[in-house]
Amino acid sequence: MNLNSNLELNNDQRAFVNSAKQFANEFIIDKAIEWDKKGIFPKEVLKKSAEYGFAGIYVSEDYGGAGLSRLDAALIFEELAYACPSTSAFLSIHNMTAWMLDQYGNKELKEKYLKTITKMDNICSYCLTEPGSGSDSNAMRTKGYNDKSNSSLIVSGSKAFISGAGDSDLYFVMMKTDLENKNETSCVIIEKNIGGISFGKNEEKMGWKNQPTRVVSFDNCKVPAENIIGKPGEGFKIAMQGLDGGRINIASCSLGAARYCIDKCLSYVNERKQFGKFLKDFQNIQFKISDMITDYNAARLMVHQAANALDKKQNDTTVKSAMAKKFATDLCYRICDEALQIHGGYGYLSDYGIEKMVRDCRVHKILEGTNEIMKLIISRKFL
Ligand SMILES: Cc1cc2nc3c(=O)[nH]c(=O)nc-3n(C[C@H](O)[C@H](O)[C@H](O)COP(=O)(O)OP(=O)(O)OC[C@H]3O[C@@H](n4cnc5c(N)ncnc54)[C@H](O)[C@@H]3O)c2cc1C
Repeated sequence: MNLNSNLELNNDQRAFVNSAKQFANEFIIDKAIEWDKKGIFPKEVLKKSAEYGFAGIYVSEDYGGAGLSRLDAALIFEELAYACPSTSAFLSIHNMTAWMLDQYGNKELKEKYLKTITKMDNICSYCLTEPGSGSDSNAMRTKGYNDKSNSSLIVSGSKAFISGAGDSDLYFVMMKTDLENKNETSCVIIEKNIGGISFGKNEEKMGWKNQPTRVVSFDNCKVPAENIIGKPGEGFKIAMQGLDGGRINIASCSLGAARYCIDKCLSYVNERKQFGKFLKDFQNIQFKISDMITDYNAARLMVHQAANALDKKQNDTTVKSAMAKKFATDLCYRICDEALQIHGGYGYLSDYGIEKMVRDCRVHKILEGTNEIMKLIISRKFL
């Protein structure tokens, strides 16, 4: 029996899953450990992913997107993460920004950028966190002042922990503006090559090593006012709605990693003997494997429930997405860690690929809103 039998999927969805699997097998799985070791950001592979529709999975076809659903996207991100959670997660961030523009941008702004994004001619970063504001993201201090001509914003401030920064071409920056009211937040697209933008050092991290993470600083950057997505003041709503989907995608990345680790265990316990017995013959191992498979399936159901809610625009999407993100990223991290334990000392060696899954998945409990913030979202809904 396959771990993800996908019996509930329709023929189209099976085709997307197969195409994601084929892409991951051909371009990612054999390179992931080397990219991780050498810190290689695989831009060519990201570019190639656009040919498969993975640079605008749920963007409308009018702008070069694949026009798929959030459930389809969850299935695709899981398959890609089976090969490399970090690469899949970066694609998820790029897709999140593409959706923000598709959903809220006016026709002119979409004409200007969206097709280049769905072709991966422009790689995108999402910029919300600042050095002084993480979980409390609305306390951001980056500001865009209206210049006298009203045609530009003059932007100053810093964003921290930005995935892709330095390599990305477009930055979707949440900032305070005061075009319509004093405490509004707007979402503005800033091009990399505009004057006044600079990048910090590539942060040394525990996982997600094949993608850069940097501080991005803006020093009186002059940005066309037409680059505001939606209306001035809609930026926080756009950023949070982007995260509803982003959380489902990150949870899907954890599912892919967990399934990889379970598959590795299923082979290993059939090959490795100690005390004259295969590992699979110890009840301790049997029970661990049962728990891992059960947890993976439960997490997958939660993630697909949230993706369905988002597809159907249900009014409890935010809370379902928060529950799925918290549940799946916690459980899948535990599955990866347990897989490492089942492999004994070999699990700790990088050749087996499991320790990378543990390191990559750890950050899924922190970003796109920490799992503690997910608990706040859930409890707020019910208390
Ligand atoms: C590798 C990596 C990549 C990232 N990529 C991006 C990116 O591309 N774009 C972007 O905008 N951001 C990105 N982030 C930032 C990430 O979203 C933040 O790190 C995260 O939101 C937490 O913010 P913080 O680190 O400032 O922690 P803090 O907000 O300072 O939180 C510290 C601790 O306090 C807890 N806490 C805080 N407030 C509360 C509360 N009210 N109740 C209970 N507990 C609370 C938190 O859960 C956490 O455990 C990335 C981070 C990492 C590590």
